[in-house]
Amino acid sequence: MSIQFIDLKAQYQHLQPRIDRRIAGVLAKADFILGDEVGELEEKLAEFVGVKHVISCANGTDALQLSLMTLGIGAGDAVFCPTFTFFASAEVIALAGATPIFVDVDRETFNLCSKDLARKIDQLSADSTLTPKAIMAVDLFGLPANFDELAKVAKETGMYLIEDAAQGFGGAIDARRACSFGDIATTSFFPAKPLGCYGDGGAVFTDKDDYADLLRSYRVHGKGDNKYHNVRVGLNSRLDTIQAAILLEKLEEFPLELKRRNEIAEHYSRSLCAKYDVPRVPTGYTSAWAQYTLRNLENRDHIGNTLRQSNIPSAVYYATCMHEQPVFDSLRQVSNHQHPVAESLARTCLSIPMHPYLSDAEVDTIVMSLLSC
Ligand SMILES: *Cc1c(COP(=O)(O)O)cnc(C)c1O
Repeated sequence: MSIQFIDLKAQYQHLQPRIDRRIAGVLAKADFILGDEVGELEEKLAEFVGVKHVISCANGTDALQLSLMTLGIGAGDAVFCPTFTFFASAEVIALAGATPIFVDVDRETFNLCSKDLARKIDQLSADSTLTPKAIMAVDLFGLPANFDELAKVAKETGMYLIEDAAQGFGGAIDARRACSFGDIATTSFFPAKPLGCYGDGGAVFTDKDDYADLLRSYRVHGKGDNKYHNVRVGLNSRLDTIQAAILLEKLEEFPLELKRRNEIAEHYSRSLCAKYDVPRVPTGYTSAWAQYTLRNLENRDHIGNTLRQSNIPSAVYYATCMHEQPVFDSLRQVSNHQHPVAESLARTCLSIPMHPYLSDAEVDTIVMSLLSC
């Protein structure tokens, strides 16, 4: 068996009898949309994360969009988000009619830099008529953003705080789990995420009852008392019952998988830190290790090629920052587009295989290959 970057087949082999039984149960009941398993999953997720409400939906991008709709964010509003992230984080802000303001990231954690955030907030209030409305922080590669600092900034400036935990499910700051930070948090169940299903899926997390009511309405066509009684314009964004059934089994296994991801990350960091800039996890933080990403590689292509010769996959997340995406060219007028740290990370980072089904021998092979580069 060759080393996989993320091994969904090995996971399925391990869980097959349980998952097959769950899927067969849904097929027999033929209750495919918002069936019992969806409610059961929402309760279990709320318990795991420690929040009052979980509203599942069709994918992680919709989870963000539903959150912006719920917070009433739209034209004339500015939303601050990291420039080093997956496109969806910035995309939904523009889709809502609001303006994304890109912020540089921290060179050690890859996450939103609170110092640059303060700079960008000052700049916006000096040069623009946009209303600073929200901060969207991303738990990149599984590590929670610096929510203690960010919550302070949000409070001082009267902005909402949104946690994009698409990669963060399973992470924590002390005893507080990812998906519990800010006013609203979201995650994705895309297959390659830390908690993935077998298709698309997502969820929104909040402690606020009125947000939960709005989210349940927006995900079913802005329904009032029922879906043929429409009180607002919404989306069709629901989680399939089959996906919920699969996720119920995967959530059972998740604590063991998370433990294994952390063992592998420690093994990598211990073995590689003398030669490479390994990812840093601040004291008190736990990463879900969606990715294990080396930094500051001047010879990234050479390392990728050397790994490939030993049949070891690697990947670049992300080669292009949001402020460099052609679609956002016009935003240069509202944001100075100075993001030196993110640009440097984008040119020099490389993610290596990370999934809970890597054997110790495979981890050793990867380490040896990296040490020989
Ligand atoms: C994957 C991802 C999303 C979008 O999730 P989908 O389920 O693919 O729509 C949003 N934000 C970040 C940071 C992601 O990694």
